[in-house]
Amino acid sequence: MAGLVTLRDVFDARRTIAPWIRRTPLVRSPSLSQHTGASVYLKLETAHETGAFKIRGATNAILQLAEEQRANGVVTVSTGNHGRAVAHAARRLGVRAVVCMSKLVPENKVSAIRALGAEIRIVGKSQDDAQEEADRLVAEESLVLIPPFDHAHVVAGQGVIGLELLEDLPELDCALVPLSGGGLIAGIAVALKAASPKIRIVGISMKRGPAMVHSIEAGKPVQVEELPTLADSLGGGIGLNNRYTFPITRELVDDYVLLDEPQIAQGMTHLYRAEQLVVEGAAAVGVSALLNDLIEPPGKHVAVIVSGRNVDMDMFTRVVTGQYQFPA
Ligand SMILES: *Cc1c(COP(=O)(O)O)cnc(C)c1O
Repeated sequence: MAGLVTLRDVFDARRTIAPWIRRTPLVRSPSLSQHTGASVYLKLETAHETGAFKIRGATNAILQLAEEQRANGVVTVSTGNHGRAVAHAARRLGVRAVVCMSKLVPENKVSAIRALGAEIRIVGKSQDDAQEEADRLVAEESLVLIPPFDHAHVVAGQGVIGLELLEDLPELDCALVPLSGGGLIAGIAVALKAASPKIRIVGISMKRGPAMVHSIEAGKPVQVEELPTLADSLGGGIGLNNRYTFPITRELVDDYVLLDEPQIAQGMTHLYRAEQLVVEGAAAVGVSALLNDLIEPPGKHVAVIVSGRNVDMDMFTRVVTGQYQFPA
């Protein structure tokens, strides 16, 4: 994996996105510090304007384009946090953005992306149909595809989180990172492991479809069945032709933890009641792992990446009041 994404790329990303992205706070968690006996800190990626860290990678990927490419516009198929990030970043940078999606995408998601100023293309009945339309726009109209994780500039953009952690907590022993496609953990790992190979990096996914963990076990990218989960931002595959995040994760990530749905709900509930934070399921997994003593020993100084806050508030309320019906 050597050199796929380097520390230098992460520093370059930081300089590139600095005028556009806020530096997020790192706050000590008294409740989790007490529970673990370690000093536990929360990296609040919820503080971004779009409510999730994906704005870092998307902004870097767009700003790194050549002038001529930028003039053609960008395209993506994500309707989640990455789609929002691309739409938001493109509008602020004055770049045309198209988001392709299938007819099955619920209206509230469609209007959220439209409100951010992106053009919406609704095609077909599946994610594959949406991807085909995106590929067509790339081939025929020269738009540039901005993928959600498997892209060097996206990984480097997310890696800026690692630089901020090192500045705010130089004695860091362990980072707990939500894991799906691996852009977040790969970027953070490039930064932290360059500072010290002793910093332990733990990837945390849900038991319901942990694509990267199954791929690491298989020694190559594999497909997983997608199941409904509270950590919906962690769903989906890593891409069978994965080029960046699979090799980087395989080389640099130390451990993996898998959580069941009640454990994810427990993390969300704890952050709400003990830290007064509203977060989505994917963002709560590090806290869930600590509460269930699944990171042993966590080290003296632990950072938990709280990755986003885009959650349906009616569902959130059911979760934190114990009224949520877990999927069968
Ligand atoms: C995308 C996302 C993740 C996972 O990031 P990957 O780079 O796909 O591993 C975690 N949390 C939230 C809130 C996300 O939107």
